[in-house]
Amino acid sequence: MREYSPLPFDQTDDQADLRSMVRSILEQLATPQRLSETDENEAFDEELYAALAESGLVQLEGDLDGTPASHESQAIVLEELGATATSTAVSFVVQYMAVTLLTQHGTPAQRDRFLGPLFEGAHRAAFALTEPGGGTDVARAMKTRATRNADGGWTLNGAKMWISGATDCGFFIVLARTSPIEGSAVGGITMFLVPADAPGITVNEMDTVAIHGLSTCEVGFADVVLGDDAVLGDVDRGFRQVIGTLNGERLNAAAVALGIARGAHDAALDYVRGREAFGRPIGGFQVLQHRLVDEAVKIEAARGLLQRAARVADAGGAAETLSAMAKLAASEAATTATENGMRAMGGSGLSREYPMQRFWRDARLYTFAPLTDEMMTNFIAEHHLVLPRSY
Ligand SMILES: Cc1cc2nc3c(=O)[nH]c(=O)nc-3n(C[C@H](O)[C@H](O)[C@H](O)COP(=O)(O)OP(=O)(O)OC[C@H]3O[C@@H](n4cnc5c(N)ncnc54)[C@H](O)[C@@H]3O)c2cc1C
Repeated sequence: MREYSPLPFDQTDDQADLRSMVRSILEQLATPQRLSETDENEAFDEELYAALAESGLVQLEGDLDGTPASHESQAIVLEELGATATSTAVSFVVQYMAVTLLTQHGTPAQRDRFLGPLFEGAHRAAFALTEPGGGTDVARAMKTRATRNADGGWTLNGAKMWISGATDCGFFIVLARTSPIEGSAVGGITMFLVPADAPGITVNEMDTVAIHGLSTCEVGFADVVLGDDAVLGDVDRGFRQVIGTLNGERLNAAAVALGIARGAHDAALDYVRGREAFGRPIGGFQVLQHRLVDEAVKIEAARGLLQRAARVADAGGAAETLSAMAKLAASEAATTATENGMRAMGGSGLSREYPMQRFWRDARLYTFAPLTDEMMTNFIAEHHLVLPRSY
């Protein structure tokens, strides 16, 4: 009988090498048992993260002088992590965002202090934007405030919610309102670099059903005193500067969702080959085959869009619409592959012995983060189809 082999993934030899490097670290350290343990124990896999960072996978082609990493490389790393160690993948999305913000907006001193150790894996970032009162519309709802002190520094007060990796980060990138809303709500907000051990910070882990290998937290800031050098980028332009990196965020979210889709698809394929009913493997039943083919098409289509969008973005072109499409396609592939996967596995889908239930839970994240699929769709309608803004 013919052996199944996946379609080719990459355009260049360097990309194929990068993918096999990530795979070989995962094969060594992210064993099924270890993945299941970190999920059960709700523990971050420090050893895996350290091995990935030491291999240069946070830094990639980036440099302290402000050279950015390529979107294509980030997408490869994130797809592989998403297909295996989903929580570590989510942490990497946060780290890549911090790398981008520091690369684009950090002063040389800020890059030395925060970016160098980030590249090395000596500390991690947490990105604190969302608040109890608002996610999608966070700029208008933002209650976190930073006020100027007489010495030119700042005092930060407020509360953030759903912050990934806040329990064990070295620093936060916090968005806070520094001027009242005048006209557009996205103005008057500033980014701050806040060391995690600054007095006045409290972190409480939230009880969630997914992404168990990375903490999700409420973070409080009570009279946290910061120097003037804590401002990342420009005062009052922080939200706009974050929006400027959103394209990369969409691509990176798409890459993890694509990985989850692939991980779930592969796990289902494995299962339907081995499980028998009515004297034959369940993979012989047409309905299961059709679902698996539907997943395979969605996965390949999402990867095609993702690679195209990443290539356009790396070449400096306008990739926003392609990136939003890639994010929607990958999120759809992940929810389809995990839902079908659960069905294909019958009762075994609910067993923690198999990774399917973890993929199924974790796939939810990228239907709404960093922006919801509904907002992605709004974006495409408004900016690509040039229809009136619907909200
Ligand atoms: C596990 C996890 C990790 C996270 N990590 C981080 C993190 O590290 N940092 C951080 O800052 N945030 C983080 N978030 C927050 C995440 O970014 C938000 O959940 C997301 O932005 C959506 O916001 P919301 O949950 O408040 O949903 P809401 O904004 O309340 O939206 C609820 C629903 O209303 C819909 N809706 C809202 N406005 C419109 C509109 N105009 N048109 C159509 N539909 C609309 C949405 O699409 C959605 O379906 C995380 C969340 C989770 C669960």
